[in-house]
Amino acid sequence: MHNITNVGVIGSGQMGGGIAQVAAVAGFTTTVFDTSAGAVAKCQATHAKLLARAVEKERMTAAEADAAKARLTYVTDMDQLAGSDIAIEAVVEDASVKAKVFSALDAMLTGNQILATNTSSISITEIAAATKTPERVIGMHFFYPVPVMKLVEVINGLATDKQVTDRVINLAEAMGKTAVPANDRAGFVSNRVLMPMINEAFYAWMEGVAQPEHIDAIMKLGCNFPMGPLRLADFIGLDTCAHIMDVLAEGLCNDRYRPCPLLRQLVVAGRLGDKTGHGVFKTA
Ligand code: NAD
Repeated sequence: MHNITNVGVIGSGQMGGGIAQVAAVAGFTTTVFDTSAGAVAKCQATHAKLLARAVEKERMTAAEADAAKARLTYVTDMDQLAGSDIAIEAVVEDASVKAKVFSALDAMLTGNQILATNTSSISITEIAAATKTPERVIGMHFFYPVPVMKLVEVINGLATDKQVTDRVINLAEAMGKTAVPANDRAGFVSNRVLMPMINEAFYAWMEGVAQPEHIDAIMKLGCNFPMGPLRLADFIGLDTCAHIMDVLAEGLCNDRYRPCPLLRQLVVAGRLGDKTGHGVFKTA
């Protein structure tokens, strides 16, 4: 049993908002904390909109949507997370910000509560080192968009207690997800395998092996991927892809993970993908 009834989410952005929504729909009392009042208000409005849409599409009843909303509380004061059985952190991808958040959580939640992070590239062991209780720190890596994507990659830091892993796997399953365990190495499994493939697609384009649309068509039709690696890079953000390759190169001490020069060039040109309307492809 996961023994968790209260979920605290830190950071109410794209990922934190999604995690909170899924937790509340699954029946957990959920408190969402963000330092930005604007972000919290936007998160609440997004929840209202997405839950209304789910009712319209008959994925849930109006009563279920109302019950989920009633389980959600939005706060800008961290102390209001004191009743949480687990804190799931989804603040900006910045190691120093996460270290401060974990140090504060460690001081506030002094029992056997779990401290989880949704980081996609920072070492769980490094985040745990900001606490006095690294055995209860774990990676709980959700995927975007959280209500849709089934996977939670559960990442054990160097000191993570097996009981903590088991409780988190049970919690993820109770949230309707499929939890898969991994250990703490740069990129975990998801980005360790995905990002070098995306990077290689940029090399293939740079070397003139094929045009971007042909690279994507070959990978879609040949490997049965729902979208090609270059289209996926636009969706993720080219800056994020380059950053994760740098993390792999540093963390795995191997230059073969360095970002492709063409990927770097597009980033410095401001072609970041869907968020700027132009990356590999024009989307705006
Ligand atoms: P985001 O920018 O949408 O949201 C981050 C939120 O954190 C903002 O609302 C910000 O106000 C808040 N915040 C910043 N400092 C804070 C603090 N000290 N305390 C509380 N709140 C604070 O970012 P996002 O895309 O939701 O990403 C969040 C985390 O999830 C990152 O670690 C990211 O790497 C990871 N992640 C992102 C994706 C993705 O596809 N976006 C996928 C998996 C994991």
